[in-house]
Amino acid sequence: MSDTGSQPAHQAGRSLDPHLGRYAARTAGMTASEIRALFAVASRPEVVSLAGGMPYLSALPLDSLAADVGQLIATDGLTALQYGSAQGTVELREQICEVMALEGITAHPDDVVVTVGSQMGLDMVTRVFCDPGDVVLAEAPSYVGALGTFTAYQAQVVHVEMDDAGLVPEALRQALAAVKASGRRVKFLYTIPNFQNPAGVTLSVARRAEVLEICAQHDVLVVEDNPYGLLGFDGQTYPALRSADPTNVVYLGSFSKTFAPGLRVGWVLAPHAVREKLVLAAESATLCPPAFTQAVVSRYLSQHDWKGQIKTYREAYRERRDATLAAMEQQLPAGCTWTKPQGGFYVWLTVPEGLDTKAMLPRAVTQRVAYVPGTAFYADSFGSRQMRLSYCYPTPERIREGVRRLAAVLEGELEL
Ligand code: PMP
Repeated sequence: MSDTGSQPAHQAGRSLDPHLGRYAARTAGMTASEIRALFAVASRPEVVSLAGGMPYLSALPLDSLAADVGQLIATDGLTALQYGSAQGTVELREQICEVMALEGITAHPDDVVVTVGSQMGLDMVTRVFCDPGDVVLAEAPSYVGALGTFTAYQAQVVHVEMDDAGLVPEALRQALAAVKASGRRVKFLYTIPNFQNPAGVTLSVARRAEVLEICAQHDVLVVEDNPYGLLGFDGQTYPALRSADPTNVVYLGSFSKTFAPGLRVGWVLAPHAVREKLVLAAESATLCPPAFTQAVVSRYLSQHDWKGQIKTYREAYRERRDATLAAMEQQLPAGCTWTKPQGGFYVWLTVPEGLDTKAMLPRAVTQRVAYVPGTAFYADSFGSRQMRLSYCYPTPERIREGVRRLAAVLEGELEL
């Protein structure tokens, strides 16, 4: 029964929303993400939040950034506060090519489009490629924000199995064959090869070539989303998929995790013809990306030790990862298993059979710990025995306390 009495939920909605009959059909797929609803509770100070993937910005040199921004306005304010090109400034696009070179990518600044975070890149790519009913392949599990975008454009997500070495090539072949047999069309494979959100696993180098080959054979584009690639804890980087195949990969990058998400600066690198369509899509969405935040990022890249900053971030995240894994090892009940991330923000935890991570979340929040239930990361109803734990934001001490509370919640569930 709904909480409005005996009235079914959809009728209750109708009486509350006089515009209900007016919405486009695609809004049916737009639902509030489980993460967004969680943020309100999880941000209460008494709750240890292992839920949101917020970067640890206290590691930034705020004073010198403040001085830089002041100077930027004083010296270049008339450009930095003006409209600009829909594709982004040439200066930043050139710098982005240097950043991508760290992962083996050779690119021309003409093929880069600056976006308002890589989330906008995801939106543009889906808008340009997907008609309603088209299939997008995505890892199982996959990034909640990408799934939301695919659904908003009425694309259907088909998940492809992963293991500790990332996407399983044989599962990719099978998924492609199954979709073809059902008469539908796969438009692209969406993959997060490095330190995946939410699973924390990385696609092995051997599998990279295989995944590219399978996609090329089946005439399926690859969309490579790589916000965490420079955050490997030992400083290791992996060759981007795009570095091996410039013609069939669209690459999404972001400064959200290597610098700051509040700036909302990301980019898409695409084969030239695709790039032209993306610029048109970007123009209709935003006219141009903010000149101001692009200028802030450009100045930061040219005047700060940005590689040193990434190293500082890596060290902070490695310490947090270590604290998380050690606490899980010591505290979690038998029957729990989890991934061992070598970089990035996330651990993927599987709880013993019979437990349901979504159902137990309210009890966890009562015990002052929050996580994201696994179901958020699937377009279908899988993930009920999984949860994502983010170790990026809390201090190691808070993480230990959070895992201790989580262990108590799980013990309690097992006794029910
Ligand atoms: N892709 C992935 C895999 C992410 O984890 C995120 C942010 N959590 C994004 C894209 C979006 O990042 P942004 O828009 O801040 O660049």
